[in-house]
Amino acid sequence: METYDLIIIGGGPAGLAAGLYAARRNLKVIILSEMLGGQMSWAPSVENYPGSKPISGLKLAEIMKKQAKKFGCKVKLEKVVGLNLKDEIKTVRTTEKEYSSKSVLIATGSHYKKLEAEGEDKFIGRGVSYCATCDGPCFKDKKVAVIGGSDTAVRSAIYLSEIASETYLIHRRDQLRAEEVNQKRLEESKVKIIWNSVVEKIEGDKLVKKIIIKDVNTNETKELDIDGIFIEIGEIPTTEIMKAAGVEINEKNFIKVDSNFQTNLPGVFAAGDVTGSFAQIVVAAAEGAEAATNAYLYLRGGVYGEKKPADYGEKKWKKQPRIE
Ligand SMILES: Cc1cc2nc3c(=O)[nH]c(=O)nc-3n(C[C@H](O)[C@H](O)[C@H](O)COP(=O)(O)OP(=O)(O)OC[C@H]3O[C@@H](n4cnc5c(N)ncnc54)[C@H](O)[C@@H]3O)c2cc1C
Repeated sequence: METYDLIIIGGGPAGLAAGLYAARRNLKVIILSEMLGGQMSWAPSVENYPGSKPISGLKLAEIMKKQAKKFGCKVKLEKVVGLNLKDEIKTVRTTEKEYSSKSVLIATGSHYKKLEAEGEDKFIGRGVSYCATCDGPCFKDKKVAVIGGSDTAVRSAIYLSEIASETYLIHRRDQLRAEEVNQKRLEESKVKIIWNSVVEKIEGDKLVKKIIIKDVNTNETKELDIDGIFIEIGEIPTTEIMKAAGVEINEKNFIKVDSNFQTNLPGVFAAGDVTGSFAQIVVAAAEGAEAATNAYLYLRGGVYGEKKPADYGEKKWKKQPRIE
């Protein structure tokens, strides 16, 4: 069995930044990830990573991986399928083999809920988006539709209406779940609401051209010409195997961490989208860096090499008013 000081599960920006920071602290560290780059790799152009020119998410992931590896972090593309996190020595089982370590950092992110409409997968990154903050600016003076009825959906629609020429909000019910204050803002905006409707099909050639929507009361369908469709119906944190291993999660399935990014289990840390943070690359990377540094402190039992035991004090769960 390969043994490490720190095993990082997830190779998105949180995991890759954590790998870099851990390796620079001379920890024996490995990143185990199903795929490289996580959600970041779906971003055709990342324009808001400080200090970087617009760059494809996949390319940014490659650069982050190269940087972490340069300092000695190992990276393996393997899916983690089983965990034992409660003992001092933790074991991590992948589809390939078993690893052990003294600490584990969970950076498994989350995945956006899909509409499951025909054409959705085909047009991801070519008109279908799950992130208005990220992709909105690409739709200047174009027609867009936002799907959903939550605060996120409403805020995205208002934001997009300031960029796009026309913005629709399509919701399957006749009322929104969003906060009153956002509903009022929506009324004052240019957004056109289409109630009681679901998207059945997304069509286009290279890029999205139109969607077919169905009225759920009358079953009538109609076409709507649009250039972009923003699917804002929620997200699912990737926490199933951690939950089974005893890691505490909150009511929305995000992993609970204290102000040191440590979970309820000693030596088990979590960072990035999986903790319910503001879902942005820069935030995930920053949290990964901090969590890895705290893993180092946990392993060394003191602050930056001092011999005194790490005092994490009483658990103060990190506040998680998710910024959406
Ligand atoms: C289309 C799109 C465009 C975006 N554009 C931008 C943008 O322009 N700017 C911006 O700041 N943000 C953008 N975001 C948001 C940003 O990508 C995320 O906030 C960020 O990637 C979260 O990083 P993370 O490391 O926490 O998790 P993720 O990126 O989700 O990475 C999680 C990793 O964990 C791995 N994993 C999960 N389960 C397992 C398992 N069991 N075993 C092994 N590995 C596992 C996954 O394969 C993945 O590699 C975009 C998101 C999307 C979907």
